[in-house]
Amino acid sequence: MAVFRADACGITCMFITYLAVFYADYVVINHLVIPTLSSSLWGAVNALLFNVVLFLLAFSHLRAVLSDPGIVPLPDTGLDFSDARSGQKYIENKANEWTICMKCETYRPPRAHHCRTCRRCVRRMDHHCPWINNCVGEYNQKYFIQFLFYVGVAALYALILVIISWVSDPNSDSHKSKHLRIMHSVILVIECVMFELFVIAIGCDQMQAILGDETAVEHVQKKGPLRPKISKKLLLAEVFGKGPVYLWFCPLQFQPMNGGSSVIHPV
Ligand SMILES: [Zn+2]
Ligand SMILES: [Zn+2]
Repeated sequence: MAVFRADACGITCMFITYLAVFYADYVVINHLVIPTLSSSLWGAVNALLFNVVLFLLAFSHLRAVLSDPGIVPLPDTGLDFSDARSGQKYIENKANEWTICMKCETYRPPRAHHCRTCRRCVRRMDHHCPWINNCVGEYNQKYFIQFLFYVGVAALYALILVIISWVSDPNSDSHKSKHLRIMHSVILVIECVMFELFVIAIGCDQMQAILGDETAVEHVQKKGPLRPKISKKLLLAEVFGKGPVYLWFCPLQFQPMNGGSSVIHPV
């Protein structure tokens, strides 16, 4: 149930993301690798590896954008909650029980929350992220974290390539192209440092939320522990899948996530 949201803020952020990626690739290939590293295989290897990282970045991003974050389905027939409205407080306080969303007019599983941007309830919703124009929830948090990871790797790799390029700087390029290379290198370094700090901050928050078994929404609501303590490995496996750890970094596999968003209500 993937829906692309017509949200101006989300679409703008996605545009900025791809602009930054294409610009970084342009500078790395045209102003770093070709003028200074193209005489050896080393340049081609780096250009190829950098583009593999960008491919994984774009792939994990698109999967985070297009995946169903865990939208709670609406019932086929409208449910009558007129009686529940007065008793809403009582129902909402039971943190581990199914609750009622008055906006969606449906039951929702434990830990699901209503997103105002998506106008739907999302399973284990963490936050709505404009950079992926989607909610970060139970089914796409893995792709969101992979996206952060590959942005971090790409930014670091680009910074290393700037250094390598300037260290192995041949004096063959003309005065004009050298001037351009300085300008693009400076812009690329600023871009990479900004994105690196940004993804480290969000990535740390995400890992803290997973290992602390508390989403950003729950942290604000201060509901306290929602279930008995479970091991860190299991908490990570819930998000990244039960397969081997190296697969946690791979956005290319297609396997159904656990759980079932088709469940309307257990009773
Ligand atoms: Zn809702
Ligand atoms: Zn949302």
